[in-house]
Amino acid sequence: MSPRSHSASDPHLKEIREVTPSSQGCEDCLRIGSDWVHLRLCLTCGHVGCCDDSPNRHATAHFHATRHPIIQSFEPGEDWRWCYVHEAVV
Ligand SMILES: [Zn+2]
Ligand SMILES: [Zn+2]
Ligand SMILES: [Zn+2]
Repeated sequence: MSPRSHSASDPHLKEIREVTPSSQGCEDCLRIGSDWVHLRLCLTCGHVGCCDDSPNRHATAHFHATRHPIIQSFEPGEDWRWCYVHEAVV
């Protein structure tokens, strides 16, 4: 993930909801007993998935399954957001 631009006007920002994280770990990895590297939080529904450095890439899989465009880092001390559609930090 190499940030291309910072945009406060990304149209997908309006799909952000007030979400409650679904899990404290990647819910899909927990289900299959796998490990993850970093966690990402879907800002549309609260799905917690793992990053693209993880073997199963559940955050990206969640985007492809649901088209929920924006995730936020779920790592302590990180609050950057990423738009999958624009492949940009938003
Ligand atoms: Zn976007
Ligand atoms: Zn996972
Ligand atoms: Zn979602």
